[in-house]
Amino acid sequence: SDSHFPIPISPDEVDLSQHYPRYFPSGEGGALQGDAAVPRIRFADVGCGFGGLLVGLSTLFPDTLMIGMELRDKVTEYVKERILALRASNPGKYDNISVVRTNSMKYIPNYFRKAQLSKMFFLFPDPHFKEKNHRRRVISMQLLDEYAYVMEVGGIIYTITDVEELGEWMRSCLEKHPLFEAIPEEEIKADPVVKLLSTATEEGQKVARNGVDEPLPPRSSSSSRCSC
Ligand code: SAM
Repeated sequence: SDSHFPIPISPDEVDLSQHYPRYFPSGEGGALQGDAAVPRIRFADVGCGFGGLLVGLSTLFPDTLMIGMELRDKVTEYVKERILALRASNPGKYDNISVVRTNSMKYIPNYFRKAQLSKMFFLFPDPHFKEKNHRRRVISMQLLDEYAYVMEVGGIIYTITDVEELGEWMRSCLEKHPLFEAIPEEEIKADPVVKLLSTATEEGQKVARNGVDEPLPPRSSSSSRCSC
């Protein structure tokens, strides 16, 4: 249950020095969060699983702080170890990524301030097929309100799934929501991040492997811009 992991009361309580020690060598990451000159977390990978996307993004955006949010304890610990091992074998690299164990459906505003994030990722989220469980989906009209609050104007939400029904659901929520707008196809194609959605994530790789002997299952991805 939630009582097993600490929850910051507000973004000021998130100690960045624990996550990104190279950026906060004197251990002042929590106290400094309010200072505009101090780097802030800009990307959030929600339900990051084993962290493949973070690892891929880390070298693509070496000066951007990013965090994975993961509910499962053991998976979170695995990602922590993975990042520490990468830092140890590649000095000066992978210092900009970290992971936190949390329930993203409840605590996003505890971690991020208004307009703090420029990218949010929802990659291969759990489908929750039954209608009575749709409220457990990580994209919904209510949660998009929260995501719009923590995203900057022009920030981008990326989604991908191989579950057709969920893909349609996520797309329709984003289309209906007044604070998000679809991104033109040419812009999506030119975005280097889009390729990573399926190639860097463990779930994307699994879907690709399953497709070796049979046609790839349909994969629906979309990107929407925050226009609030
Ligand atoms: N995004 C990763 C990928 O594409 O490889 C993992 C996809 S996996 C199917 C979905 C992940 O979301 C799981 O690791 C699960 O534990 C996590 N998850 C589900 N609900 C969550 C929540 N409320 N908060 C944080 N993580 C959650």
